[in-house]
Order: sequence, then C-alpha cells, then structure tokens
Amino acid sequence: PKDKKYKDLIGKTVIVPIINRQVKIVADESVDPKFGTGAVKVTPAHDFTDFETGKKHKLEMIQIIGFDGKLNENTGLYKGFYANEARKKIVEDLKMSGQMVKIKEDYVHNVGTCYKCSRVLEPLPKEQWFVKIKPLADKAKKLVQSDEIKIVPKKFKKILLWWLTNFRDWNISRQIVWGIRIPAYRCVTKSDWFVSVEKPKKCQICGNCKFEQDTDTFDTWFSSAQWPFATLLAQDENSDFFDYFYPTSVMETGYDILPWWVARMIMVGVFTTGKKPFETIFLHGMVRDKNGQKMSKSKGNVVNPLEMVDKYGADALRSALIFGTKEGGDISFSEEKVIGMRNFVNKIWNMARFIEMNEKVVDKGAMNRTTTKTILNDLQKEYKKEKKQYLKFMDSYQFSKALGLVYEFIWHRFADFYIEQLKDEVINGNIEALGVL
Ligand SMILES: [Zn+2]
Ligand SMILES: [Zn+2]
Repeated sequence: PKDKKYKDLIGKTVIVPIINRQVKIVADESVDPKFGTGAVKVTPAHDFTDFETGKKHKLEMIQIIGFDGKLNENTGLYKGFYANEARKKIVEDLKMSGQMVKIKEDYVHNVGTCYKCSRVLEPLPKEQWFVKIKPLADKAKKLVQSDEIKIVPKKFKKILLWWLTNFRDWNISRQIVWGIRIPAYRCVTKSDWFVSVEKPKKCQICGNCKFEQDTDTFDTWFSSAQWPFATLLAQDENSDFFDYFYPTSVMETGYDILPWWVARMIMVGVFTTGKKPFETIFLHGMVRDKNGQKMSKSKGNVVNPLEMVDKYGADALRSALIFGTKEGGDISFSEEKVIGMRNFVNKIWNMARFIEMNEKVVDKGAMNRTTTKTILNDLQKEYKKEKKQYLKFMDSYQFSKALGLVYEFIWHRFADFYIEQLKDEVINGNIEALGVL
C-alpha cells in the first residue's frame, strides 16, 4: 500500500493473459515490497495468505484445481491437466504468443510440501468443521498456571502455556478414510447441517428429506484427546473405573506431542467431564542415535528395541533408555549402551548367585566378629542414606539420577567395597551377614 510506483494502479483491473479474465488490483500489507517487484498475483482459492487477502478485499474466489488434482472448467483449454503439467504448458503458450517478457529463475519462495512424498501441496478451499478453541484453552490455561496440573520437567510449562494462548480454532475434520466418521448430517433441501450422536430417524431441519451423513472423519487428535475418560466410560454401566481412575495420576508421553495430544486432552477432558484429566504430566525426550541424529530407515541408524531385548534382555534395554539421560532431554542411544547395561544387570545376577550359592555351605569357618560387625554397620548406614536419596529422586521424577545412584551403589560400593571385604564370610556360609539389607 505504501509503494508510490503502483499508486495509480490500485482499483484498476488487469487481464490475466491466455484466459483473458479481468481481475482487480488491490494493495495489501501481506505482500513483502522487497520480494521481486513488490507486485504479486493473488489466488484466494489456492493460498492461505491470499485467502485472507481475498476475503478482506472481497475478491472473487475462483477455484481452478479440482479435488482430483486436475485443472477444472475455470481454466479453459487447460482443463484436465495436472497443475504441474499445466504450468509448463502455460509457459510454452506465453512464449508462443509473445507475451512472455522474462523468466527469472534465481528467486526462492516457500511452498508447502507433503510430509510423506515431499511433493508440492496445492491448497484447495473446502468446507470444514472447527472447534472454537479459546473458551477451552482458557480453562486449561488456568489449571496449568495454578499448577493444579503439574508438568515435569518444569521447562515445558511455559511451552504449554504458549500453545494454550496461541492455538487457532481447531479444524477437526479430515478427508481420510480411517477414523471416526463425523456424526453430522446435511439436509438436502435446505443444504444445511445438523449434528446427532444417535443415527437420526428423520431430518432435524426440514423433517422429510434424504439427509446425508458427512463423509469426513475426525482429526486423530480429536479422537485421542478423549482417551483419558472415553476408555474408562466404555466399561459396562456398573463399572466404577471412571470414578476410581479419573483423573489419572501421571500422564507420560513424548514432548513432541505436547500441543497436539496433551493440551487437547486437558481441553476436551475439562469440557466433557468438568474435571482435569490428570494430576501430573511427565514428558520424555526423543530417542536419537549415538551422534544425536534422528533415527530413520534411510540413514540406517535405527536400533530395533525388540532385537535388543532378544540379545540383551528387557532390563538392559530399559536401563539403557534411562541411564545418563536428562529428564525431557533427547536420548543418545546405541547398542553399546545396552551392552553396558547388560553388564550391570549381569553384575547384579552374579552377586545374587554368589550369595545364594554359598548359603548352602554348612561348614562355617572362623569369622572375625568385630571387623565384620563394623563393616556391616557401615553398609547399613550407607544403604539407608542412599535409599533415602533414591526415593527422593523417584518422587521427583528424576529417574535417570535414581538409576545412576543404584548403579554406583550396587557396583562400586556394595560389590567392589562391601562384598569384597565380606567375601570370606559369604564363602564360609555366614550369609546372614548380608541379611541387614
Ligand atoms: Zn504426498
Ligand atoms: Zn432435510
């Protein structure tokens, strides 16, 4: 709007070449004047920003790509071509008619791409269902702000509050087959919608038409947001599962779905039941390879957990996932780490075997009572202290520190220091020596 060189053009019309359609020239803040000439074409039906611009300036919303991905009747001769084919053809045709001035190849712009096949996405206008988010988000925000719902680690509280403040209205309809079909019905005479949880017997708008159910399905997060209560209410009528288990004490998940799942469980849970769905949220990090890279098939750096369980046992795998990990931080994972933990698990096993085996020894040798007693007293003291600290870690969700403590204590204190000194007593069958633990 501030660009003087185009001032006189605003309000006039231009002709779109080839199709010979007249379109209005408007000035809008959404265009970066430094991008190219500062003048751009607007396609309200095929771009999110242009959609807003189009609404503001009351531009015609001309859809030129159909839901089959091909150009439609609004494109004249190009009808039936896929968008990328048509683009090439238009360039040829413009050259032929002498209307092409110059092709500038050295500019960069952002286009949305498919997360599965990375092809360019073509946005199309379509009627959708939305949930007004603010009333839901405001209630959730209060629960998080006041720590009625606690978040561990703490740093995620700020992030969750940011989301609850900045959510846009929630588009809950999807055009995919797998999902819960939306229980909305269209009256064919009035061409309007009504919603009914039970399958309706007659049209709730006109009373007698062959109403049609929407073919759209719910956004997967809309369905999974109901998980904390829907699973409990799905029990038989007399079940007290809901009263007993709702709110859940701890909700554990990855931090990457904090806004998509956790925030929505809170909003939908409070809306539906009037109560928060859980007391505490514990968020874990992502499992990455030993160089901190994301695991992916194409990189070949994926560690298969089931294979690890077969090779080293489930305890070794579990410990490897927790050991040396900062809560909520990403995990550097490798087979070597599982091997290290397998060694630790074996150490515990061997210690237990050593004690158990010698329990059977009947011929008790001489025992230096005084020294043994001192050692055992020390062990008992240390064990008590460590246990207290361990419980503290566990209660505050510092699982990695808790495991680190157990590792240190069992390996370097209990095994290397205490059992080493008490070895003879154990071998002599004075197993009650360790009964203090
Ligand atoms: Zn794709
Ligand atoms: Zn009807």
